[in-house]
Amino acid sequence: MPSSTTNSPDNLPIVVVGAGPVGLAAAAHLAERGLDFLVLEAGSGPAAAMASWGHVRVFSPWRFNLDHAARRLLEADGWITPDLAELPLGAQIVTDYLEPLTKLPALAGRVRYGAKVVAISRDGLDRVRTTGREDTPFLIRLATGEELTARAVIDASGTWPTPNVLGGSGLPAHGEPEAAAYVDSALPDVLGADRDRFAGRHTLVVGAGHSAANTLLALAQLATEAPGTTVSWAIRTGAATRTYGGGDADALPARGALGTRVRALVESGAITLHAGFSVQAVTVDGGMVTVTSRSGASVTADRIVSATGFRPDHTIASELRLDLDPVLGSTRALAPLIDPNQHSCGTVPPHGVDELTQPETGYYAVGAKSYGRAPTFLMATGYEQVRSVVAALAGDWDAARDVRLELPETGVCSSSAALSADDAACCGTPEPTAAPRGLVTGVAGGLLSLPVVQAAPGETETGGCCG
Ligand SMILES: Cc1cc2nc3c(=O)[nH]c(=O)nc-3n(C[C@H](O)[C@H](O)[C@H](O)COP(=O)(O)OP(=O)(O)OC[C@H]3O[C@@H](n4cnc5c(N)ncnc54)[C@H](O)[C@@H]3O)c2cc1C
Repeated sequence: MPSSTTNSPDNLPIVVVGAGPVGLAAAAHLAERGLDFLVLEAGSGPAAAMASWGHVRVFSPWRFNLDHAARRLLEADGWITPDLAELPLGAQIVTDYLEPLTKLPALAGRVRYGAKVVAISRDGLDRVRTTGREDTPFLIRLATGEELTARAVIDASGTWPTPNVLGGSGLPAHGEPEAAAYVDSALPDVLGADRDRFAGRHTLVVGAGHSAANTLLALAQLATEAPGTTVSWAIRTGAATRTYGGGDADALPARGALGTRVRALVESGAITLHAGFSVQAVTVDGGMVTVTSRSGASVTADRIVSATGFRPDHTIASELRLDLDPVLGSTRALAPLIDPNQHSCGTVPPHGVDELTQPETGYYAVGAKSYGRAPTFLMATGYEQVRSVVAALAGDWDAARDVRLELPETGVCSSSAALSADDAACCGTPEPTAAPRGLVTGVAGGLLSLPVVQAAPGETETGGCCG
């Protein structure tokens, strides 16, 4: 299908890719500033990714899960603000906040569902052509073949559709594609919709983050209800220190309790831990799946849950000029602030349009995608990113550069040892630190103080993950 227009970019809408919490926050800011926009969402409703882990209770309270512009628009429409101290389920964020947001007059008709973006380029220019580039509209191709043009693109498509592989080297384990029918990706609804797949069976959970911890707890609960249910857990590192977290010392009680409960279940024998287990191969035989580590150890189970984290998909923007950090796939400016080799909790100063700018003028990856493979993203961080980016697109550079970030003071962080990639298997909470500019605010009534736990040499770190 041909491109619909060759308009000057100024007459075109700004396209937001993804109607997750950050994409819809961008929409709210665009609406407030009176800029023309269109949100393209692959799923059949708002926040399709979050809806698929809707049974998980998040660890940041409502206070940090609401974007300011979105909240202003909603409250002006009579929306009842939820209890800001409560920890909602993912599903509640979708139904109680994001769905109502999409129905406001300011957004209604500007969010298209079933609109999966498969490629972004410049209309009539490939990546090599320089002349006239900045004055040429973006071209956005959907899975249906339809093409749209845009003045700018805010890519808030997240990382959920591209989970990491089971293989400990970052490559698919031998036999992993062939065993796909035996593998669930992170956070199946073990006690709800997916119960039958796990009841009375042996499941191996692979991964060290809080997504893994959540699934382990659900499976252990199922084991008390459904006879014959057994649970194994494989982690690449030598000890589960980080998953166990800081217990009572964790500034987020719910997160501290998660690790403490997993530890108790391992110690009681309800969960069999296989530490130092770097997955090398997966084989299927007689309806069972066997996972073999690089050291030759193996575990045979009915099912595997792969909770090994996520990575960004930059292929949709491969005809754009991106300068990505070679480690994380974030912008280079952001990478040193969030590198899990350096930070367990992400010492993330406030950042905005300047840190998110790419050589391709007018394209910004924001939200979870902006962090690349770093597991420390928080919604509050993304909300400030899009406030700044939208201000810049409106030409309000003072507001764009007046970057402020209110973060919960959370996390039991190690400030020394590096995380292994295994530890980067989920998302986490930033540790507020002295910011080079802007403001990090420990919010009054927010989340306590920031205890710091030093990891012993050679140990993995604690904290820093979610889910
Ligand atoms: C289990 C879990 C718990 C978490 N808990 C917390 C927490 O307590 N606090 C916190 O602050 N953060 C938490 N996070 C981290 C993060 O804030 C969330 O992942 C958040 O949903 C990220 O928002 P996003 O809008 O950037 O991306 P997403 O929520 O992933 O939204 C991206 C959207 O883009 C759509 N999309 C993807 N590809 C395309 C495409 N090609 N074309 C069109 N649309 C597309 C998707 O369908 C989706 O709706 C958690 C994450 C997980 C996984």
